[in-house]
Amino acid sequence: MKFKRLIGLGLVTLMLGACGGADQGETADEAPAAAADEISVTEAELAGNPFMEEWDTPYGIPPFSAIENGHYMPAMKKAVLELRTDIDAIVNNPDAPTFENTIVALELAGELLGDVASTFGNITGTDTDDELRALETQIYPMLTREFDAITLNPDLWQRVKTIYEQRDSLGLDEQDARLLELRRRAFIRAGAAFTPEVKEQIAEINAEMSAITTTFSQNLLLETKAFTLELTEDDEIAGLSDDFKAAIWNDEKQAWVVGLNRSSYETFMVQAENRELREKLFNGYRLRASEGERDNGPLAIRVATLRAKRAELMGYESHAHYILEYNMAKTPKGAEDFLLRVWRPGLEQAKQERTDMQAMMADGETFAAHDWWHYAEKLRLERYDLDENATKPYFDLENVRAGAFEMANRLFGVTFEEVDVEGWNPVVVSFDMKDENGDHLGLFMTDMYARDSKRGGAWMSSYRGTSNINGDKIRPLITNNLNLPTPPEGDPTLMRFSDVETLFHEFGHGLHGLMTKIDYPMFSGVDGPRDYTEFPAQILEHWTSQPEMLELYATHYETGDVIPTELVDRMLLAANHNQGFYTTEYVAASLLDLRWHMLSSEEAAAITDAHVFEREVLEGYGLIPEIEPRYRSEYFAHIFSSSTGYSSGYYAYLWSEILDADGFAAFKQAENIFDPEVAARLKKWVYEAGGIKPADELYRNFRGSDPSIEPLLEGRGFAVEEAGGN
Ligand SMILES: [Zn+2]
Repeated sequence: MKFKRLIGLGLVTLMLGACGGADQGETADEAPAAAADEISVTEAELAGNPFMEEWDTPYGIPPFSAIENGHYMPAMKKAVLELRTDIDAIVNNPDAPTFENTIVALELAGELLGDVASTFGNITGTDTDDELRALETQIYPMLTREFDAITLNPDLWQRVKTIYEQRDSLGLDEQDARLLELRRRAFIRAGAAFTPEVKEQIAEINAEMSAITTTFSQNLLLETKAFTLELTEDDEIAGLSDDFKAAIWNDEKQAWVVGLNRSSYETFMVQAENRELREKLFNGYRLRASEGERDNGPLAIRVATLRAKRAELMGYESHAHYILEYNMAKTPKGAEDFLLRVWRPGLEQAKQERTDMQAMMADGETFAAHDWWHYAEKLRLERYDLDENATKPYFDLENVRAGAFEMANRLFGVTFEEVDVEGWNPVVVSFDMKDENGDHLGLFMTDMYARDSKRGGAWMSSYRGTSNINGDKIRPLITNNLNLPTPPEGDPTLMRFSDVETLFHEFGHGLHGLMTKIDYPMFSGVDGPRDYTEFPAQILEHWTSQPEMLELYATHYETGDVIPTELVDRMLLAANHNQGFYTTEYVAASLLDLRWHMLSSEEAAAITDAHVFEREVLEGYGLIPEIEPRYRSEYFAHIFSSSTGYSSGYYAYLWSEILDADGFAAFKQAENIFDPEVAARLKKWVYEAGGIKPADELYRNFRGSDPSIEPLLEGRGFAVEEAGGN
């Protein structure tokens, strides 16, 4: 969730931070050419509004305690009006268009909106309430229409186009040239360059798609709520832990009630001894929204058809071709080939896991899909006997964070000093980050604890991006959010190892935002192709389990002893358990996503049954019947519940893993996880480089070659299939 002082990219940076929610994606390509709203705001409505005043605060952070819910809407309106003034000044400038008066001016437009929208976006993520939720439903559609009106403004596009055509004679440096390239691309991909007739058709498609995807998502929500298992008998709750039973007890019904949200679904599938009930829940989960009046199958077909049609109108072979054009994978074939190289060893391993679990079944019982979670856990306990309470005392938040800072210091020379500034919540702890020369790089604000008003998961965000236009030297305000349970007063915060990895992951996104040396907000931070952006975060996870790092931070909170090697070994082996299954269900969903979006509009329209299409595709790849794709088409919200979302991009999580596994291998090859030369290249070409070059070039500059897939396969415990890069 970050907002940069620019327009044209649409809401994507506003609504989705790094690691943002999976199914709320919005991109610039989706919006109908709707007219902007009538907006007005009076001086009286703005009286005493902190967004209208200079912020006399340390580091220029928002004056959090002075901002009330009622301040947002008037400030937002005022900010939109100022943005219009900025845009009008560019469009109506009587001078011929120049790089400065158009492209740079667009970077500087809407400064107040940057402050208001980033504060609003961050606070609604960390400390929301009913009033703010209601405001979101008014503010985001208003901003969408506003940005559409700008991106589809023909006069503005004409200026951008004119400058682009003169680019070779303008004496632009590398950053200027990149800015011009990306700005033009954003306009084109939104449809700015087409004739009014084509624009109108695109707008019609977008409008229909917006309606269908909303219905898809509402059907899914209703169907997910509609299914429950009510348990009252002892044999129905056999195996369930006290914690889980307490969490699902329903006083009104005097029963334990299990629903279909992923976390209770998986917990039940792991713990429940009652095989018949496991099968019931399994079918409840996978048959959601697949028949009757809330059947999402026909909607998926229609969305795929519309996306294909739109891509064809814009001159692409398919929607997947359109989406992947600027991703690292570049083409649907590139993404598919990559997936298949992981798919084959993953599927082999899954078959072995199936055999191992069949051997644990009672005589005469045949292992089935609804047995997988339950028996995988039995096997894990039998093999590794690992209780997370044994490792937690070695992962005290204070030590873990200090370890992450020490790692960054050894790799990049940066330092962190805790500073006393007022955050958005009393639990926020902030650090002044400096480079190796002692120059200020940015403010790093951390909010580690869960609370009811905060959304789930973990994410990095910013209150202010970086800018160095005309030497203004604005450094960023970067945040990290986790959702650790708050310990009892006075106790240390002891973490699970997976939370330690998450902390390092978000810290990696944070460094990507904090260390940037890019002058233009448009490509200064963590944004980039979807299959690259997770790389700077994921690579840091590798340090968490290295012996040299563990000595630095994994010390017992009472005795100070370093975590025993034997415990670490078991912990890491257990982490790779059941990897065949996880890989197979994930890659199956990724292949399904790609295949839906590689269809032509004619092919998509000819499909009569979404499920038949899905089965044919996945059986074609050899999927075994005991494993379902992670999402079936009827509840694949990542790709069908919003206009673009992750469509053709669900593979990207795994793609980033090639980069982080191969990137970390560079340190292993140097036999030093803090090797100064490798670290210097990582710093220069990844953390400082933003999006100055296409992602594959950045990676090659860091690594000296294209990434190889072998380290990923080894990391997942798979046999390496063949030599060569991917
Ligand atoms: Zn991430």
